[in-house]
Amino acid sequence: MKQVVVLGAGTGGALIANLLAQKLDLREWVITVVDRGHVHVYQPALLFLPFALYGHDDPKDVVRPIGDPLPRNVNFLTADILRIDTEKKTVETSLTTLRYDFLVGALGCRVAPEEIEGLADAIGHDGVHTFYTLEGATAMRPALESMREGRLVIDVCDMPIKCPVAPIEFAFLADYYFTQKGVRDAIDITLVTPYSGAFTKPNANRVLTEMARAKGVNVVADFAAESVDGAARTLRAFDGRTLEFDLLCAIPPNLGPQVLDDSGLGDGTGYALTDPRTLKARSADFVYFLGDNTNVSTSKAGSVAHFEAETVVENLLREIAGKPALPSFDGHANCFIETGHHKAMLLDFNYDIEPLEGSFPMAHVGPFSLLKESHMNHVGKLAFQWVYWNLLLKGRLPNVPLLPSHMNFIGKDLETTPHARHAREMKVRDVMTKEVVSVHKGSALTAAATLMVQKKVSGVPVLDEHDRLAGVLTEADFLSAMNLEQSAVTDTLETVVRKRRARKGMGTIVDDIMTTPPITIREDETLREAVTLMDTNRIKRLVVTDDDRRVRGVVSRGDLLRLYAMK
Ligand SMILES: Cc1cc2nc3c(=O)[nH]c(=O)nc-3n(C[C@H](O)[C@H](O)[C@H](O)COP(=O)(O)OP(=O)(O)OC[C@H]3O[C@@H](n4cnc5c(N)ncnc54)[C@H](O)[C@@H]3O)c2cc1C
Repeated sequence: MKQVVVLGAGTGGALIANLLAQKLDLREWVITVVDRGHVHVYQPALLFLPFALYGHDDPKDVVRPIGDPLPRNVNFLTADILRIDTEKKTVETSLTTLRYDFLVGALGCRVAPEEIEGLADAIGHDGVHTFYTLEGATAMRPALESMREGRLVIDVCDMPIKCPVAPIEFAFLADYYFTQKGVRDAIDITLVTPYSGAFTKPNANRVLTEMARAKGVNVVADFAAESVDGAARTLRAFDGRTLEFDLLCAIPPNLGPQVLDDSGLGDGTGYALTDPRTLKARSADFVYFLGDNTNVSTSKAGSVAHFEAETVVENLLREIAGKPALPSFDGHANCFIETGHHKAMLLDFNYDIEPLEGSFPMAHVGPFSLLKESHMNHVGKLAFQWVYWNLLLKGRLPNVPLLPSHMNFIGKDLETTPHARHAREMKVRDVMTKEVVSVHKGSALTAAATLMVQKKVSGVPVLDEHDRLAGVLTEADFLSAMNLEQSAVTDTLETVVRKRRARKGMGTIVDDIMTTPPITIREDETLREAVTLMDTNRIKRLVVTDDDRRVRGVVSRGDLLRLYAMK
């Protein structure tokens, strides 16, 4: 029998085991899952446990026996994974050594408080807690319950961490929790982060920073934690800055599994060197990774493990069939961000595209809104726990329409890219063409047409005897005068030039067919204004003029489109 070994029975491991059990011929293949744990924790619920909010009172409600989500027709081994030998294609565990034909690594990542001086000793007392583990989230509740005043500091010690939005969600929930208890005014909430803002992605950072400001949550940025002094209740950064706290909610550094470094598969911090598109191990054949233990540059989130699983399964099946792996993973991630007061936001993005505004998964209909707070998003976040246990882990979500593993643009407002926002705020003078080909009133149409063809321009400003703008002559003016279809533009102008004569009804000088009054714009207007003017007047270019109607340049839709184009 041929062997697939799955390392880890968390989100990624359980899902892969279910998908492979559906797709592989189990008369030929044996699937073995290895995990040292005894329970599977629904980690998104760790956010709510410290506050006992929205029905999250009992830690027992967020865990299941580790074997529960696994299919019945796979082997499960409770053991510590000690080393992977990619030459011999074996996995050494604390119980036995397993041979594999294909290996899938889904070992997650772990919190490492020992990386910050004083943190490991302080956690659980001295006003220092974390909600990133089940024990930590449970132990934190009394500290929050008894807090009536003082300073709550939420510190992201280092990056990367799993679910990078969870710390800011914690800050927003704390705001809601203390408001409900009537003590919010006496409690200062501060989010401390090594990022330069509330979040990494510029678009999400803009929205979350504004939301933090509105909720009175302070953000201390560029703070790389060095040490925690629990007794003195201080947090110190490498640059010497010190912050005081009454209650510290620490998010310790997250490290990848040591066994991956020990087996020559890791990047030195335990994260597997993984091809970001095929999800194959970079340093070994027949090995794939998904979930938090990869070093790919998208969020460490359950949704990512879910989307990655499709690529891993497809590529594994292709390799079994003798075909090469496909680079099909696009870095797709989505996450609900709980914002308190029964509301949440939703982000959807991938390696290349920032979180955008709009609706998800259907345009206009939603029901979820992107980068915006809504009650429906909050309902979605809470409902996801049921979806997780009953659909996601069981491998039933890939078949759900509208939830593709690749990010799509349906419902997204492309105008909300940081790129487009920046472009809209630019001034006309930043993009206009300054060397403008123009003609004077009274010029022969044939001469004007010759000029336009030679200079390859589709329109020219027409100037009066004082060199002030009098009108605009465009291809469209020729076409309407000659009653022709637009597709014939260049040919027609060439014909006009060749025959050196104007057709009947067209006139002989530019004054006969030029458009007046011309639609103009000032050079200190924004591109947003330029686009609006072009849209409302259905034209492709604007002449840029000064107060004296002298031509300063031309701005065309083509120039703007290039600016608006995304990466
Ligand atoms: C507070 C919090 C909130 C979150 N909120 C969200 C959210 O809203 N949305 C979202 O998408 N994601 C969220 N996440 C992240 C999400 O839970 C993880 O990204 C996801 O569970 C990763 O799955 P995984 O399979 O990679 O790792 P895990 O599910 O952590 O599984 C790893 C498994 O490997 C096992 N293991 C590790 N090393 C060994 C070894 N040497 N030997 C044997 N077994 C080993 C572990 O026991 C574990 O069972 C949140 C996480 C936290 C902490």
